[in-house]
Amino acid sequence: MRRVTRGEIEWTLLPPLKDLLPYRFENGASFKGFRAECDSCGTYIELPQVHGNITPLAGNRCVVNARGRCPDCGTLCEYLYLLSAEGEMSAQRLDEFEDPPRPNA
Ligand SMILES: [Zn+2]
Repeated sequence: MRRVTRGEIEWTLLPPLKDLLPYRFENGASFKGFRAECDSCGTYIELPQVHGNITPLAGNRCVVNARGRCPDCGTLCEYLYLLSAEGEMSAQRLDEFEDPPRPNA
């Protein structure tokens, strides 16, 4: 029997991201989800396998904090995005920096 990791338990406890979609911004723009790919093997992770939260921010922005479970290799991938619906919809991945830049460093 496969060992269940702490990360998998945490993933199970998070709500499916699809239950939160489409997400509506204050200005009426909507976010319908993103294409998740495994960080380890590149396999497409279907939306029902992505769990997480959406935290609204002021100024038509929100933070998407999601985890996807790869159907192929079982890797849990973290997706942390800052979405902005001001003007053009844009998404900035927040977890791709090893050392995040610090202000006034
Ligand atoms: Zn994978």
